[in-house]
Amino acid sequence: MKIDHIECINLLFDYPSRRGFQSSGGITNSRVTSLVLVHTDGGEVGIGSAYSHPALVQLVVRQLSTLLRGHDPREVEAIWEKMYGWTRWFGRKGATMTALGGIDVALWDLRGKSLGKPVWALLGGDEPSCPAYASSLLWNTFDGLATEAVGHLERGFRRMKMRLGRDEEYDTGAVAAVRKAIGPQHDLMCDASMRYHLALAQRIGQTLADNRVFWYEEPFAPEDLDSFAALRSTVRVPIAAGENEFGAQGFRELIERRAVDIVQADASRCGGITEVRRVADMAWKAGLKLAPHSWSDAIAIVANAQVVAANPHALTVEVDQTGNPFVEELLVEPLRIQEGRLQLSRRPGLGIELNQSVVERLRMPNQLEVPDGWYSDMVFGQQDNQAAGPYRERI
Ligand SMILES: [Mg+2]
Repeated sequence: MKIDHIECINLLFDYPSRRGFQSSGGITNSRVTSLVLVHTDGGEVGIGSAYSHPALVQLVVRQLSTLLRGHDPREVEAIWEKMYGWTRWFGRKGATMTALGGIDVALWDLRGKSLGKPVWALLGGDEPSCPAYASSLLWNTFDGLATEAVGHLERGFRRMKMRLGRDEEYDTGAVAAVRKAIGPQHDLMCDASMRYHLALAQRIGQTLADNRVFWYEEPFAPEDLDSFAALRSTVRVPIAAGENEFGAQGFRELIERRAVDIVQADASRCGGITEVRRVADMAWKAGLKLAPHSWSDAIAIVANAQVVAANPHALTVEVDQTGNPFVEELLVEPLRIQEGRLQLSRRPGLGIELNQSVVERLRMPNQLEVPDGWYSDMVFGQQDNQAAGPYRERI
């Protein structure tokens, strides 16, 4: 089996009236993600995805496609090292590592298909499912949050994540409203979207502890490891971060600085299944938990879930519930949640099949040009979408 070429297909969709959800960045108009398909000489196709600046991902995949032509795609770890070396000068973190990881996920899919085994089994797992959580609960009225939270329970979820970072009155009231709506027995996570400083994070942390929050995500920018470490030693809620970290070396720093309790490495961001697996090992050795971030598409969720299903110290995988067609429509067999668990396939590889008509419908018209808009994590064009103002504190 040899690699023939690697294809990157950037996907785009607009929320109805270009008004999706509201969070700290403003009103999300649209979403993007990048499919990465490794085509072999025998016609097999490995499926992966990458979530970063779509045009940068496209360019890196094009370069690596030429370099990898003729390589055996089953040599996953050796190819990973080659890709890392070829891109080191402009890579190591960011969009390049994300693109490299998209290829890595597709290689794992091909390795599984060639061996006739699902990836979760290749990674050491023995059950085709893993815990999952609903990720949504963006800024809303308290009544709206309560209604949405109950809806997640009705759809089979047993834990969910909400967004804070609006202002202190909202943040503390919203957590209490969702906790009241879902009762004491379900897990609630809070994402502060990097909007706090240390003293504020400690005050909010008290409210989160009082509401028995399962984890406290990204109160600070990823560069501010000192604040993470200081907060972790003073609040009674586990601290989570990692969606903005790349590569085992990056996660090693996060772990060694004692910044987090829960490491959120994402295969579609940080370097693929190969790298999440390395991060999972490091986390286990440090006595920490793994809970991969996923905020782009169903392939990313399924890829991350393979590692969670294979690691007893991995807690759960994130499932975007904002009405994202990359999550809900891209696969021929949609994701299934039962009793709080994401059901994986027993078929070889990732066990997924793309819905080609959906891929064509969502294909970005110009693969190297992202239309102006706010894309949840990235902004293109003029920044005029009512971005949140300064955070209002109580004191
Ligand atoms: Mg987050």
